[in-house]
Amino acid sequence: MKTPIRLVLACALLLALGSTGTSASLVADSKEVSAVEYLYADVSDASTILSAINSGLLSSYQGKDRSAWEQAYSKGRAKLATDLDQLPTTGLSAGDNRAIAAMKKQSQAFSGGAALFSPAAKCNDAARKDLAYRQLQSALVACFTEIGNSLSFEGGKINRVSALDLLHQTSDPGRRKAVFLAFVPLWQAINGNNERDSPYRRMIAGVAADAAKNGSEIDHAARDVGIDPAEVERWLVQILDAWRQASGDAMVEPWDFRFQAGEADRQLAAYIPRESLLPINYRYYRDLGADLESMGTLYDLAPRPEKAALAYTEFVTHGRMVDGAWRPTVARVSAPYERGGLFVLNELVHESGHAVNITAIRNRPAFVDWPSDLFAEAFADVPSWSTYEPAWQRRYLGHEASEQLSLRALYSSVMLDVAWSLFELRMLRAPATDPNALWTEITSRYLHILPHPEFSWWAVRVQLADFPGYMVNYGFGAILTADMRKHISKTLGGFDSGDSRWYGWLGEHLLRYGSERDTRTLMEDFLGRPVSPQALLEQIHRLKPISVPDAR
Ligand SMILES: [Zn+2]
Repeated sequence: MKTPIRLVLACALLLALGSTGTSASLVADSKEVSAVEYLYADVSDASTILSAINSGLLSSYQGKDRSAWEQAYSKGRAKLATDLDQLPTTGLSAGDNRAIAAMKKQSQAFSGGAALFSPAAKCNDAARKDLAYRQLQSALVACFTEIGNSLSFEGGKINRVSALDLLHQTSDPGRRKAVFLAFVPLWQAINGNNERDSPYRRMIAGVAADAAKNGSEIDHAARDVGIDPAEVERWLVQILDAWRQASGDAMVEPWDFRFQAGEADRQLAAYIPRESLLPINYRYYRDLGADLESMGTLYDLAPRPEKAALAYTEFVTHGRMVDGAWRPTVARVSAPYERGGLFVLNELVHESGHAVNITAIRNRPAFVDWPSDLFAEAFADVPSWSTYEPAWQRRYLGHEASEQLSLRALYSSVMLDVAWSLFELRMLRAPATDPNALWTEITSRYLHILPHPEFSWWAVRVQLADFPGYMVNYGFGAILTADMRKHISKTLGGFDSGDSRWYGWLGEHLLRYGSERDTRTLMEDFLGRPVSPQALLEQIHRLKPISVPDAR
């Protein structure tokens, strides 16, 4: 995932001001604005460098340790606030005015070096009924780190990512069920016994009340595509219904779902040991014209007990013009990988997709920032979906699974994201809903999964606690991913086995704007029409219905 920015970025105000033109200039028109903009870039850097240090990856950067960066950050931030307020309010160019508005919004989202996804809260706090919903969210994220990073399995400890991977890999049905049940302590920490005032149900009520006033991620996704929020739900249901019809009608246990879909993962697992993840990832992106090693992208892939429990990508430094030359963005990818395998490799390629997205931004400092959450997540899957294409597997693994098995593996995991999107959409709309009953209804109807409302087995994604509503950026984002992949293949050509023009072409046509352009305009200009679910439906229809032998 990209690191979610809690404030609405590329906010409605910015959109209303209109960002129609191409970025004419990489620097400000006014000297006064330019000076503030470069200060803004320095403070952004200090904030994200501190996050890199606090993540445990680095002890110093550019010769400065944590306390030096903390000092630089707090001094710079105070000066930035004053300087932004003192800029003239009249007589500036339209571009400068938009840059100032962007800096004011985005600087409110500076993390100031907080260790991302590693909150100071304790999981135990989630039981406290007096907690405000934001503190409750932090406590629930802590549960993912404290409990999710050490699930008990067969006398040892495994983390959440490994457990999900084992659900794809483990052929013994009893052992598979044991992996599934290793999540029970996490589910109980998140949703208690599914009582009305369980930690999750108290939290989602608070989030929903806030979203009713300020808009949810679902509202933002609707805006980013130019449709009504009610239409988002119809598109999600349409996708799930296509899958329901295409995927056969045998009902499976929830602990068998990933295994049954994961035949491609199992056939290829032996060719993707953990130590091969990064070299394969580098090679693929080199073939796409993006040399991540020479770009200096930092990879921190080793598990550590206190480390964030999920994979994410963030800026380390923000690209900008220095003495007439572009000094590139440096990105950082963090993930807790204990094992290799296709499922994990796909995620690493997704994170590198985020890295490529932000390193391709060529804009003035005010706009060297993330695009919308929806665009960022959808774009990161554009290269990563190729890992489930036989042509990609042949080239990068030397072995391939059949097209049908590969598609089934990819799209069953996409469909879980679509299911979570629908789940969150409905929870946010009616927060008193029983989440276990809702999840059971969605997964049994569309994914053919046998009902187990006694388990809160939906609670395996950190995003559900950290940023409720965020799953729409994956599930609904899949519609944009499929649309972009189709358009790139048609216009530039297929890229499953590389295309050295890919990175440069996408930089020029899609990525260079950063946070300047709203997603709706960006996508419409890129596709030459509005986004539509058609491309994803076509992908689902590539699947031939098969009757799967009972996996139990
Ligand atoms: Zn992502």
